[in-house]
Amino acid sequence: MILFKSQELKAQFDNEITSTLRNLLYALAGFLKYTFGLDLEITSMVRYDAPVLIHWYKRAADISTQNFTPEQIQKTKDWINNNFLYGDIHHDSCIFEKAGEVVNGTTSTGDHLHVQTIK
Ligand SMILES: [Zn+2]
Repeated sequence: MILFKSQELKAQFDNEITSTLRNLLYALAGFLKYTFGLDLEITSMVRYDAPVLIHWYKRAADISTQNFTPEQIQKTKDWINNNFLYGDIHHDSCIFEKAGEVVNGTTSTGDHLHVQTIK
């Protein structure tokens, strides 16, 4: 099951993000439920606060890890990176970001997995 932190995020999921990202998120929701019995909770997707962020290009989503154990976070990150290649470029499709960490000028408000796609 996919949970959305806000109604705006649900609308972004349905209408704004790329189909490649949407397909990855559907697969991820299946993995989390099948493997750990966990729901996928999306806390952020499309953002215009920093143009350099992949969020601005509608190709990134942040997943809450509030209900995950450290082992579940690691296994989820590995599953995404092993199954979803970020094109031919050697970037990871999934990065764990801790609360308070500053990434590309934006401060993370809570522990999350940042997921991104090449298109
Ligand atoms: Zn992110």
